[in-house]
Amino acid sequence: MTEIVVIGCGLAGLSAAIAGAERGAHVTLVSPMVPERSQSVMAMGGINAALDLKGEGDSCEQHFADTMRAGCFIADPGATRRLAEAAPDVIDWLSRQGVCFTRDEQGRPAQRPFGGQRKTRTCYSGARTGKQLVSALATQARRYEASGAVTRLMGLRLLSLVLDDDGACVGAVLVDPMTNEAIALPADSVILAFGAPNGVWGKTTGSQVNDGCAAGIALRDGLSFGNLEMVQFHPTTLETPSKRMLVTEAARGLGGRLYALRDGRPWYFMEEWYPELGALMPRDVVSRSIYRVVHEMGLKHDGRDEVLLDITHLRADVIERDLDEVLDTCLTYRGIDPRVEPIPVYPGVHFSMGGILVDEGNRADVDRVMAAGECACQFHGANRLGGNSTLAAVHGGRLCAESAVQQGPGASGPRRDAALDEALAGARADIAAWSACGPTGEPSRDVRARLVQTMHACMGIYRDAAGLERGLGTLRDLFEGCRSTGCGESYYDFLSTREELRLAVAMVGSALERKESRGAHQRTDFPDTDDERYRATMVTSWRDGRARTEVRACQTHA
Ligand SMILES: Cc1cc2nc3c(=O)[nH]c(=O)nc-3n(C[C@H](O)[C@H](O)[C@H](O)COP(=O)(O)OP(=O)(O)OC[C@H]3O[C@@H](n4cnc5c(N)ncnc54)[C@H](O)[C@@H]3O)c2cc1C
Repeated sequence: MTEIVVIGCGLAGLSAAIAGAERGAHVTLVSPMVPERSQSVMAMGGINAALDLKGEGDSCEQHFADTMRAGCFIADPGATRRLAEAAPDVIDWLSRQGVCFTRDEQGRPAQRPFGGQRKTRTCYSGARTGKQLVSALATQARRYEASGAVTRLMGLRLLSLVLDDDGACVGAVLVDPMTNEAIALPADSVILAFGAPNGVWGKTTGSQVNDGCAAGIALRDGLSFGNLEMVQFHPTTLETPSKRMLVTEAARGLGGRLYALRDGRPWYFMEEWYPELGALMPRDVVSRSIYRVVHEMGLKHDGRDEVLLDITHLRADVIERDLDEVLDTCLTYRGIDPRVEPIPVYPGVHFSMGGILVDEGNRADVDRVMAAGECACQFHGANRLGGNSTLAAVHGGRLCAESAVQQGPGASGPRRDAALDEALAGARADIAAWSACGPTGEPSRDVRARLVQTMHACMGIYRDAAGLERGLGTLRDLFEGCRSTGCGESYYDFLSTREELRLAVAMVGSALERKESRGAHQRTDFPDTDDERYRATMVTSWRDGRARTEVRACQTHA
């Protein structure tokens, strides 16, 4: 029987676990928190599939074309075409797993418009799509758990991948951050589904459990990453003391209008600048437009870096039913009632298009390692379409399981056991060494504050060489300092601070090397798109103690 270890139990991890169990494998599902606490539950807007229920002539080809265009033609065309083609089956599979989609009068999944797409193709469950998806898949995973096909290990985080002498993955070492206990799990394949590296950004729309540590570890342990500079700023987020809360694109899909006050009167800048799609232009375009209105034209709302999103013209019952989370969020965190007053919004860090580079079977470039969901780089190019990431997580998770089962059993016996024993002994020695000297050097709280400040200063909506080089210098110094002194309140705090810094160094390095502007990566010193050199993937790996980035040509998009 094929033994699969899945790291992370959001939509990608759950889909991989269920698909692995469906194919007769035994799956161990590892994560720090239960699935209901994964970032996937936050998805509000929906999940895309060209079902053409409105008779608009939508097709998988059109879905593929919209995705490639929004991603500025650097997504993997073969994999993306397969994603669009698989989407109707994904919706069907999800329905069979028990997902309650909002339905139309004929009982079919209802669909609504989303940004950057010419057709109505986003299925949803009110504004709580993620909760519906995760709770249905988590229930299925528990059924497989009861039958013994899935084992769940909660409270653990990735510490290292274990490779044998041939460079193939034979398992993973995990740590319980509360007790510092480490364990080694043998595996024929390891599927990475640990989500976005939010920790390097501080306040984002996402979950802080996704700290970025696992991505730093994957980079350290030999995996190549793609397009790390491609980070999506969602145009409509609401500032709160602890994080930036998302105001879903569905609010604009249902007719929400963005405006700023000019000479005391509402000015609908998106409608004037982009009459065809208005506020539903792709997210990078809307974010840059808001930046321009606020910073270049000085049209701030009440002196704050914000513009206004108006949904007051929508019927109250539509807001209460289809935008329930938006209503809750605004009332709870800012005391604003969007049924009667506009919502102040500004772009915030929302999604990583870059991540572990995978092929059409979601295989990484270390043998027997697969990756899916937001930690992987494949489908979204320079800018993700709303509704494509839940789709990519489910589809990618299922593909990972298919690839793992196809590869079947890997190495076993004394050589594999020796590799696992050695990795576990090394991990325990590291933990003991940290415990023996305790926290030293600059407190991790301060190091993290500087990491976050540096990332926002040099990797914002606009970037340039001077800022990126300054940022890279600071991050390298922080990384070296953290490596030698062992800052941190606990071993895991030390490890995650160091690995987040490693990842941040790689991200800024990749941004420096892409000397053009494309989608989410806008360089004021290279304002043009350079298709000849950079219609390409920036591939970053960690070699000889440094992040190295090379430009790899994309397959052409037929
Ligand atoms: C507010 C918000 C709204 C969104 N709305 C939509 C939407 O409407 N449509 C859409 O398509 N997309 C949306 N997205 C994006 C989408 O939800 C995510 O990209 C997608 O759900 C990611 O799924 P995932 O399984 O890759 O990751 P996650 O759901 O983030 O799961 C990651 C898992 O890895 C675990 N993990 C983290 N670190 C470690 C570690 N060190 N070791 C082991 N395990 C670890 C976590 O605990 C978790 O179980 C939204 C995102 C946000 C933040």
